[in-house]
Amino acid sequence: MNNSRVSAPHPVNEPVLGYAPGSPERAKLWARLAELKARKLDMPLFIGGEEVRTNRRVDLRCPHDHAFVLGRAHEGGPAEVQKAIAAALKARREWSRTPFAARAAIFLKAADLLAGDWRWTLNAATMLGQSKNAHQAEIDSACEFIDFLRFNVRFAENIYAQQPESPRGVWNRLEYRALEGFVLAVTPFNFTAIAGNLPTAPALMGNTVVWKPSGLALYSAYFIMRLLEAAGLPSGVINLVHGEPAPLVAAAVAHPEFAGLHFTGSTAVFRGIWAQVGAGVGTYRNYPRLVGETGGKDFVLAHSSADPDALAVALVRGAFEYQGQKCSAASRAYVPADLWPKVRKAMKDMIASIEVGSPEDPGNFVNAVIGRAAFDKIGGFVDRAKKNKANKIVAGGARDDARGYFVAPTVIETSDAKSETMVTEIFGPVLTVHPYPENKWKETLKLVDESSPYALTGAVFARERTALLEAERALENAAGNFYLNDKPTGAVVGQQPFGGARASGTNDKAGSQLNLLRWTSPRTIKETFDPPRDFRYPWLARDPA
Ligand code: NAD
Repeated sequence: MNNSRVSAPHPVNEPVLGYAPGSPERAKLWARLAELKARKLDMPLFIGGEEVRTNRRVDLRCPHDHAFVLGRAHEGGPAEVQKAIAAALKARREWSRTPFAARAAIFLKAADLLAGDWRWTLNAATMLGQSKNAHQAEIDSACEFIDFLRFNVRFAENIYAQQPESPRGVWNRLEYRALEGFVLAVTPFNFTAIAGNLPTAPALMGNTVVWKPSGLALYSAYFIMRLLEAAGLPSGVINLVHGEPAPLVAAAVAHPEFAGLHFTGSTAVFRGIWAQVGAGVGTYRNYPRLVGETGGKDFVLAHSSADPDALAVALVRGAFEYQGQKCSAASRAYVPADLWPKVRKAMKDMIASIEVGSPEDPGNFVNAVIGRAAFDKIGGFVDRAKKNKANKIVAGGARDDARGYFVAPTVIETSDAKSETMVTEIFGPVLTVHPYPENKWKETLKLVDESSPYALTGAVFARERTALLEAERALENAAGNFYLNDKPTGAVVGQQPFGGARASGTNDKAGSQLNLLRWTSPRTIKETFDPPRDFRYPWLARDPA
């Protein structure tokens, strides 16, 4: 037994590769795209180290080429959830007692594999299955996922190092146990890194997990399981079950050993699960930990002193990268009327040069939205906006689903700051701008704060320091991630811990120590070296007569 106190390698953010023409990374990634497309995946469920095939199968298709079938995935139901829970509880006995260094080494190895040849596989899978271009896949499925894996090890070490005071004669210890039971991870379609982080963060802390990925991102989920397998994750530590979401999740949260939920997705779904857990609160062995990062209606607010060119770039990148399907995407903007004509022109010029199409063609900045339901929903917002007399379509407004689910980057100018697209989460490439009278800065701060139930990300553009300071104060609770003269997207693990409050989530900050604290249940151990042998305290003795 080696009793040394170990220290993991110091984490450094994974460098983002450029994929310029002629670069080795472009050649490798495009070669892997061709390889993946040439094979048809048969995706099983992963339960207790076994590949389970139910023969109830769904097609996995490319959003940008919906006739192209990448493979098929077997679907599970509540019976498979019960098997996955049993496998997780069985694996927990050994895994929760596995030394931290041994657990951490598996995730650090996964990070190194992903920084090597697995990078092309997971990036290619994310491009094909979720329609991300090479850059969006690189910053997500390679860099952010690698960062989660490496930084979480450092965060866990920091937590484990925190120990209480011990006066003379006593030794106080905090033992950081895994939660008693299993953790359920329910993940969204839009980030492969989040899909990877939600099951692996609790697992790093000694928990075992039932993972329900999004039905819209199964293709990359399959490769995450294979990557973890290649890194040596023992059977049953993470069990993947997918199928019709509501019955699967209901079956998991009804189990008395349900110990925690690690969720990212929409506000309505999280609230629904929370209600089920609340209704069952008397049935659990422990109070389950509920961690949820949910929707947003992220704002960009400009002051008259803002740099119009920087503002226009932030709006275009913040609203349209990954088709606006980022929880942090800029979706409503407030621009002073005196600045708006210049900003509008700069945005229109940029948007005119944006090409929309398949991520397999590197010239396309905007790719397809995730599927038919999203395409119809986003289109509905645009159609209703066109009918509203308070609105003008400044750019875009069209869509085309002949080959893939393509929605043109759309900018709506509105005189009504409470119109539908200013206050509702759309989750697509649609930005609404409200030009406000430049002398109404203070009123606009209030408007920004009160127009939406969400509080995820927000950005303020100003060159005057007093304006930035005023905005920081007035919008204290309007965003969990607040940006000064920068776009509201692109949080980096270890640099900008991510999450919001109000209707945007429990704000447990993915990519930070705060998140990992939710996956441990400390036990305090007090040891007294020389315990008293007389019950009487000195004060009981009477003064001599
Ligand atoms: P979603 O809510 O549709 O799905 C999320 C997960 O919940 C999926 O695994 C899905 O299968 C499951 N699910 C769906 N319906 C369910 C039900 N009735 N019962 C139980 N589970 C159910 O979200 P999505 O479309 O995958 O992702 C987009 C949403 O996620 C947006 O609202 C976005 O803002 C949010 N999001 C937030 C963050 C954040 O950090 N705050 C990050 C990414 C995405």
